[in-house]
Amino acid sequence: MSMRIKLQKIVEILSKKYEINEWWTGYTPFETLVSIILSQRTYWKNVKTAIERFSERFDGVEDVAKASVDEIEETIKPAGLYRVKAQRIKNIARDLVEKYDGKLDKILNLSYNKAKKKLTSISGIGPKTADVFLMAIKGEQVLPVDVHIFRIMKRLGIAKERDSYESLKAKLEVEIPRNQRIKTHLILIEFGRQICRAQNPKCKKCPIKRYCKVRKT
Ligand code: SF4
Repeated sequence: MSMRIKLQKIVEILSKKYEINEWWTGYTPFETLVSIILSQRTYWKNVKTAIERFSERFDGVEDVAKASVDEIEETIKPAGLYRVKAQRIKNIARDLVEKYDGKLDKILNLSYNKAKKKLTSISGIGPKTADVFLMAIKGEQVLPVDVHIFRIMKRLGIAKERDSYESLKAKLEVEIPRNQRIKTHLILIEFGRQICRAQNPKCKKCPIKRYCKVRKT
């Protein structure tokens, strides 16, 4: 079976199982960016608690840039890994103030490639964070690859161990039509959280096990 057909089948099956949760609805661009940082290796419920506390405590980019790392840590504690994340958030806010007067619009008004370049030149923002942010806020038709998607694609025999972030993203984007990429990103993450977990995947319940190379049933 070709990779295209396999991926199409997988997306079709998973689309029926999982709801698309555009979690960024109602968030400002800066809150969305901070949520992406907070979501790394964290349950979504805890991310929500942390971003609510963060939004109550801080009034935008400049306020965060002025705050101490300790204050940011205290506010985002529910998200876990809060020391590393607080430092990243502080660096991002400081860079945004120094280089863009604290205005994310100056980046968001650029084309995808230019915006991604500017974002990844900010300390604390890597290619995945930049892509998720541009997908969420600008509706860029990209397919960011997070740890869940990498793991699932390896198990399905689509990703290779040596694939980089950009090479796997490109591989998937060639096969998934533009208007299905955001949906695919979101449902794969949900599938990775609920079924194809890093530890003890629930292979017995897996709706796509017939396409998997490593299933444990
Ligand atoms: S069979 Fe198991 S390892 Fe394979 S995709 Fe499904 S849950 Fe993941």
